[in-house]
Amino acid sequence: MATEFEIIGRYFTRPVKRALLGVGDDCALIAPEPDALFALSTDMLVEGRHFLAGADAAKLGHKALAVNLSDLAAMGAAPRYATLALALPEADETWLAQFARGFFGLADAFGVELIGGDTTRGPRNISVSVIGAVPPHLALRRDGAKIGDEVWLSGCTGDAALALAHLDGRIRLVDAALAHCLARLHTPVPCIALGLALRGIASAAIDVSDGLVADVGHIAERSGVAIELRYAELPRSRALKACADEQLAQECMLAGGDDYELAFTANPAARAKVTAVAAELGLALTRIGSVSAGGPGLVSVHDAAGKIMQLAHKGFDHFGG
Ligand code: ADP
Ligand code: MG
Repeated sequence: MATEFEIIGRYFTRPVKRALLGVGDDCALIAPEPDALFALSTDMLVEGRHFLAGADAAKLGHKALAVNLSDLAAMGAAPRYATLALALPEADETWLAQFARGFFGLADAFGVELIGGDTTRGPRNISVSVIGAVPPHLALRRDGAKIGDEVWLSGCTGDAALALAHLDGRIRLVDAALAHCLARLHTPVPCIALGLALRGIASAAIDVSDGLVADVGHIAERSGVAIELRYAELPRSRALKACADEQLAQECMLAGGDDYELAFTANPAARAKVTAVAAELGLALTRIGSVSAGGPGLVSVHDAAGKIMQLAHKGFDHFGG
């Protein structure tokens, strides 16, 4: 059975690139960068809460880093470093090798260096922290939305939740739709390039992890404004267009979570810039609503006739029962 230090040495130690000192000492050492702030974020994946026992280790390695990089994307920060705190019930080397493959696959794709962490025996729990760099005054904060701004969404929401509905037996997906939704759930791709391109364009941004309504609600709350979303304008994937259960489709798109798309606000005068970003990056950016005066934090969803819709689901609460 591998010891803690054999695990760290075999699976998580790599030569440093940008860092001055990486894995192996009491602390890693990184140099401040000229004209940049460090953006720091932590996200944890807990067995039984965020993933099921027996989940694919490579996909977990990917997702544990992806959800963190998504926070950097939402801040407009360029990824630099990560740390990894890992609690494992046993030193299963097959699991560790797969996990490391998934983790470093994504880390290499986005130029992230693993510079430290912690490894201990315990109920399976994966906590990643990331550090990114963003020029001062260009960070995409949640509190910058202004009355009259437009609300935008990258890609579309609901596919990951649709995959969960399939796994729970609520619907049956097949073929390409199933593969697409499962990939969206297990191996999300953080919107890093979009976050960088939106510097100086978006007035506020957030990544959609807990459900669209809940997450734009955070922008509304922090910005002291209300947000109105137009349901008919929400983009739908092919899988969601094909979903016969409209109630389920609505729940997935508005409250599903695990989307890791970016929702952001921008002044209407910036519309051409947003459209240019979409064209340049080859992604769909859709105007889905607007920022209005009103009860800070309030999000309303309107139907095609402009009527406020009653929602059955509000989003994912990690502390809920
Ligand atoms: P300490 O006792 O000082 O906390 P550890 O013995 O926990 O140090 O870790 C030894 C070194 O290995 C440290 O540099 C730590 O950052 C690194 N490390 C531990 N676990 C991991 C991991 N899962 N991934 C990357 N680095 C790790
Ligand atoms: Mg330690």
